[in-house]
Formats: sequence, C-alpha cells, structure tokens
Amino acid sequence: EAKIQLQETRNDEIGELIHVYKRMMGELEEAYLQQQRFISDASHELRTPIQVLEGHLNLLKRWGKDDPEIMEESLTTSLQEIQRMRSLIEELLNLARREPKDSSKLTNIIEETANVIAETERLHPESELILESNQSTTLEAVISKDAYNQIVRNLLQNAIRYCEKKPIVRISLTNMSEYHKIEVEDNGIGIKKDAIPRIFDRFYRVDDARSREHGGTGLGLAIVKMLVEKYDGQISVSSIYGEGTKFTIYLPANRN
Ligand code: ADP
Repeated sequence: EAKIQLQETRNDEIGELIHVYKRMMGELEEAYLQQQRFISDASHELRTPIQVLEGHLNLLKRWGKDDPEIMEESLTTSLQEIQRMRSLIEELLNLARREPKDSSKLTNIIEETANVIAETERLHPESELILESNQSTTLEAVISKDAYNQIVRNLLQNAIRYCEKKPIVRISLTNMSEYHKIEVEDNGIGIKKDAIPRIFDRFYRVDDARSREHGGTGLGLAIVKMLVEKYDGQISVSSIYGEGTKFTIYLPANRN
C-alpha cells in the first residue's frame, strides 16, 4: 500500500509530468466530447427541416399539379423551412468563426442594430426601445463590432419575440472603468425558474413551436454566451415568469 501511495504522490519531474499529462488528456477528452455532442445536436436540428421538405416535395409530386391549395401550402412551408435551414447554417458558421479583437462604440452599434431589427422584425407598432447610457459616445469595450452586433441583435430579437403585449425593451449601458455593464430588460412572457439554467444550451427552447414560428434556432443565446466569454466577459439572467426578463452582461473595458 505504501508503495502505491508513493507512486501517486511522487514530487519529482516525472510526477509533475504525469500530472500535466493527465490534465491535458482530460481537457482533450472533454473538448472532443463537446464537439461530438455539438455535431450530433446540429445534425439532428438539420434533419427536421429536411424531413419536412421531403414530405412536402412528395405531396407536390403526387397531388400538387391538380390541387392549387396543396401546391401553395407546400411551396410556402418548403420556403420557410429553407429559410430556417439557412439561419441555422449561418449561426453554425458564426459559432465556428473567430474574429480579431477591436474596439467599437457600443451605443452606435446598439442604435444600428435596433434600426435593423425595427425593419426586419414584425414589430408591434407601439413597441418601445429605450436606450439608456451614462456615456453616450465614448463607451468602448474590447470586442469586435461583429461580435457585439450579434450579442445585441440576439438579445433584442428575443426580447421582442417572447412578448405577448406591446414590447417595452430597455437597454442600458453603464461604464464602470474596469467593466462595461450592458442590460437588456423586457416586459415579455418571462422564463420559468426550472428552464433558466438551460436557456444558454445549444438548441434549447422553452417552447419549441413558439420559437420556430419566429424562425428561432435555439442557438441565439448559446452564441451570445460563447461570444461574451470569448472576450472574458460574463452574462447572467433574471426573470419573473409572466412579467419579464433581464439579461446582464459585463465586458472588460478598453484601457488604452
Ligand atoms: P431561439 O432561437 O429559440 O430564440 P435562443 O437561444 O435565443 O433560441 O433562446 C432560447 C430560448 O430561451 C428561447 O426559445 C425562449 O424560449 C427563451 N428565451 C430567450 N430569451 C427570452 C426572453 N427575453 N423572454 C422569454 N424567453 C426567452
């Protein structure tokens, strides 16, 4: 017994090597398993729209020629599914892509993004997007414009989509010398307590049908979290079911 203990706790270079080697193997194995899980999730997500497309093409082939209603319905659904696949593939590429760091003015990006969203989303005519900032033009963070854009876009889209009344979304930026705090708060449907730990998981949706209806892929928040962490930031969420949700992000400030 004494011998075995000696082996496991040896303090020399070999002991150190064994330790480092074991740790590296553990990390490699974990990375490999993560990748496996991701590939399997992604394949599964792509399989669904392909099955739907296949079904509709078969319908079209058999009855589409004689029945204009079937033709219309099948073509519309097929185009929607293709659009969904396109978003999914774009988001997968985003997850795989790595961009260089640069600094961007956060308020400008938020305004640009909010404008794009106002054009592309079916917005309630009285929606309110409120931007609060304690330093309107000089707020900078070490993050690429592209990454920041995606973070804001995904959070704003969700805030608007998961809402059953007139959406009021408040985005606030606070400069805190070491960190920037970004909060996105909505008055939407909220998220039940037991679902909260899962919303950053890839492909997780609280309500599958509702998310799909908006063209959701279940990847938005996974991408947001990955980007925030890539830039050494942190993200958290608090939500009251039926009342609204608030996402809080901390990003390191650019200290030039
Ligand atoms: P999706 O493409 O489905 O929107 P996300 O990863 O962006 O995927 O979000 C995962 C799930 O978390 C959504 O399907 C939705 O159920 C829930 N969710 C995200 N943001 C909000 C929000 N602001 N209010 C309520 N539920 C939300």
